[in-house]
Amino acid sequence: MSAAVARSQPAVEPRSEEGPIAILGAGLSGLSLANALLDAGVSQPIVLVDRRRTWERDRTWCTWLTGPLRFAPLASQSWWAWRTRWREQDVVARPARHPYIHLDARVVYEAALDRLAEAPNVEVLTGCTVLGVDPSGEHPKVRTAGATFEADHVFDAMGARSPLVRSRPAGEVELVQRFLGWEVEVDRPVFDPSIMTLMDFRAGDEGGVCFMYVLPFSPTRALVEHTTIGIGGPPTAERRMTLEAELGERWRARQWRVLREERGLIPMTTYPFATHRGPRVHAVGAAAGAIRPSSGYAFTRIQRHVSRIAEAFAAGRPLPRSVGPARFRLLDKIFLTALHSRRHASEEMFVSLARTVPADAMARFMTDVSSTRDEAQILSALPKRHMISAALVTATASPSRSAR
Ligand SMILES: Cc1cc2nc3c(=O)[nH]c(=O)nc-3n(C[C@H](O)[C@H](O)[C@H](O)COP(=O)(O)OP(=O)(O)OC[C@H]3O[C@@H](n4cnc5c(N)ncnc54)[C@H](O)[C@@H]3O)c2cc1C
Repeated sequence: MSAAVARSQPAVEPRSEEGPIAILGAGLSGLSLANALLDAGVSQPIVLVDRRRTWERDRTWCTWLTGPLRFAPLASQSWWAWRTRWREQDVVARPARHPYIHLDARVVYEAALDRLAEAPNVEVLTGCTVLGVDPSGEHPKVRTAGATFEADHVFDAMGARSPLVRSRPAGEVELVQRFLGWEVEVDRPVFDPSIMTLMDFRAGDEGGVCFMYVLPFSPTRALVEHTTIGIGGPPTAERRMTLEAELGERWRARQWRVLREERGLIPMTTYPFATHRGPRVHAVGAAAGAIRPSSGYAFTRIQRHVSRIAEAFAAGRPLPRSVGPARFRLLDKIFLTALHSRRHASEEMFVSLARTVPADAMARFMTDVSSTRDEAQILSALPKRHMISAALVTATASPSRSAR
């Protein structure tokens, strides 16, 4: 990771009149974009700026493998079966083509940073907080806590809470997926490593959606995660108690060692994030709205989006203005509205989807590559009453401002 240096402004000398491509934020999307630009043969100086100094194992990324995907060869595990449980219903989906894969964030960060370290045109500035970007003038100016520098193009990759994202107007559906998980080693073989648990529903607080998500790595090791979708959620201590009960009662483990704790929150919002903030100021990742509003998944979308950006950039074409297929925006909005307004009925929606939609069709839908047939299967699996009322709410809601 020798490309990473603590400095507040770039040292790379522009090779031409052009300033550097500034990527603000070196998390998943910023690192992926820099890698994609190198893959596309871009030799212009690239400067990544991040306030962090180290890249720890701060999360795990899972997604369905439905086509070529950057970093997929680094996956440490894949599952050919996933379970959805609610009350007496226990549905196991078995895809023929698209497994569910797991990537350790630290492995992805290391691979991405190593690649950047080898590139003579890339510099990573660490410990450097971005305060703002001035898009006026011929070249945007990046203002950090230590200095101001000009860039040829700026990409905001600072996540959904980027300082460059304006406060969101009222009128959007705003839910949050919150989770706390333990990677545990238990005293005896209790997990079945061939089946992961996508959603094992529990009674939620205040009617919110609440489920366990389990990634079994071996008969004795798993990541067991307590997840809620809603406006609030139980406090950390309560989530830990639920995990204790889950391990003891559901999995019948007698003793366990917590190897690490993972927690986070993912915004699930219908807010239309702008991918373009000015002629030379763009956004990627969560800052561009890459998090799929109805699921919280973003990994695959981010990889596809940065690849399209890099190819367009290298070819001198206008950059793509959307993070995913436009048709999903309405579907996601209806789905999220249904989750929000009929939270007590959400389990029914998910179980119905698991029971009736073929696993491969679901995997394609979750990763933006579904066919019309896949989508028809999904629509027909959803409880009509709830979806129609959600569609009506969506249609009558005041139109939101979209900068895309
Ligand atoms: C715990 C967790 C688990 C997730 N798991 C999955 C999953 O399994 N599958 C999936 O598809 N999606 C998942 N997601 C959603 C999504 O894939 C991730 O949030 C992903 O990391 C988004 O990438 P990003 O680059 O947009 O944001 P981030 O990865 O959060 O990167 C933002 C970067 O910007 C930096 N930054 C922020 N503000 C500043 C500033 N002012 N100055 C300088 N630097 C700044 C941060 O330090 C960070 O490095 C998960 C999200 C979380 C939080």
